[in-house]
Amino acid sequence: MKLEPVIGLEIHVQLKTKSKIFCSCSNDAHNQTPNTLICPVCTGHPGTLPVLNKEVVNYGIKLALALNLKINKKSVFERKSYFYPDLPTGYQISQFEEPLSSEGYYVLKTPKDKIRIGIERLHLENDAGKNLHQKEYSLVDFNRAGTPLAEIVTKPEIKTPSQAKYFLQDLRRICRYLEVSDADMEKGQLRCDVNISLRPEGDLQLYSKTEVKNLNSFKSVEKALKYEIRRQTELWNTNKPPQEETTRGWNDSQQITELQRSKEKANDYRYFPEPDLPTLIIDKKLIEKIKKSLPELPANKKERFMKEYGLKSGDAETIIDNKKVSEYFENVVSEFKEWLISELESTSETEDELWENNKKKALKLIKGWITSELFKLMNEASLSIEEIKISPENMAEFIKTIYLSKVNSSNAQKILKIMFESGGDPSQIIEENDLGQISNESEIEELVKNIIKNNPEQVKQYKEGKINLLKYFVGMLMKESHGKSNPKVGEDLFRDNLK
Ligand SMILES: [Zn+2]
Repeated sequence: MKLEPVIGLEIHVQLKTKSKIFCSCSNDAHNQTPNTLICPVCTGHPGTLPVLNKEVVNYGIKLALALNLKINKKSVFERKSYFYPDLPTGYQISQFEEPLSSEGYYVLKTPKDKIRIGIERLHLENDAGKNLHQKEYSLVDFNRAGTPLAEIVTKPEIKTPSQAKYFLQDLRRICRYLEVSDADMEKGQLRCDVNISLRPEGDLQLYSKTEVKNLNSFKSVEKALKYEIRRQTELWNTNKPPQEETTRGWNDSQQITELQRSKEKANDYRYFPEPDLPTLIIDKKLIEKIKKSLPELPANKKERFMKEYGLKSGDAETIIDNKKVSEYFENVVSEFKEWLISELESTSETEDELWENNKKKALKLIKGWITSELFKLMNEASLSIEEIKISPENMAEFIKTIYLSKVNSSNAQKILKIMFESGGDPSQIIEENDLGQISNESEIEELVKNIIKNNPEQVKQYKEGKINLLKYFVGMLMKESHGKSNPKVGEDLFRDNLK
């Protein structure tokens, strides 16, 4: 019997608004002294009242629109009761019957396939604090209590572990593009529980699902799902498919899932409408306003970059992965284009034709120097693109010097490094450090003739047929000219002069 996996995701995204969801405490709990960002509201003191942070609603709508969800005109906050030491109120304020948004979808493109994944809902709720377990006692930090969360629930329409992973990676990128969350899984800003069941291929019924928790990386999501597919396949093959819903936890050190609880022991949340918060009514105008403010989303940008800049899928992905990098890239391209058009003024071609006919070489250089050398320097210095000293103008100018063969590639690396360390204009750096390329043929020819004169033995061997000595001669030339000769010109001159 051929079995197919049925996978759904429940995702929590921490929204990075300035203040918490129901009080004015700072929402930036990362690296803060425990229990310094708290007030009577977020620590659940009796008699306090929650007040909904409007910005949280705006962030939620943004994210919901990016996932093609319908924003519900009316939504209701409800109390979800459960006892846990890091939940001071004894309940979470969430949305259940009437969420902020519902019925959306996301078109996922992976290197292998393209599928449409239904999104059931996105609703808002508050996060709990954090328990810090010591050997003989536990401590509670309430800094995170009241951090706004957007919970996203997909339909069980994901078919493979890698689709689940790609979906989460796309979601992280969307959150970052919208600037609603940094969505870093390691920091708990993006958390995911997965639901998985198997069924005979073609069967449309849903069978008892297993929920897997404690997944804190994209890799662990993929691995836990693969493990569950193996485990449940074995059960099906021995005629014992899972009979009840269970919750399992991912054990990363052993790379297995472990039973946490079965359904009889599951929580009864006793949902009821939160009496201290009014029904949330969303105005159509607000939705329209937010819709207009949405940036170009990463999947669209990737497609555009492939079309407009002739990038391969992988290269486009590398560049659009970070919104700021993609903006930097486009700024460099536009600076370069401007220069190219002014430089190549032509009467017969329009500006667009001019660019079309010359852009291939330029874009290859821009893409190459940004994604290899510049990224390498950024990694070594742990700097983001916003923090570096090389402006897009100077980067375009730098690419220009290479485009015009004014420097050779090893000197270009030196120039970029100096630009990276000190900022500054590439032409000035070339002049100050004497890194320009000698393209003047007669100057190079003089050096070439000298080298031929001083290496009679090698010249003899070359003339006898050992033609790869040409590389040796070019090497000598580069050494004598301190790396400034154009090696291509040098090679041609050696060939001519050794005839
Ligand atoms: Zn507070």
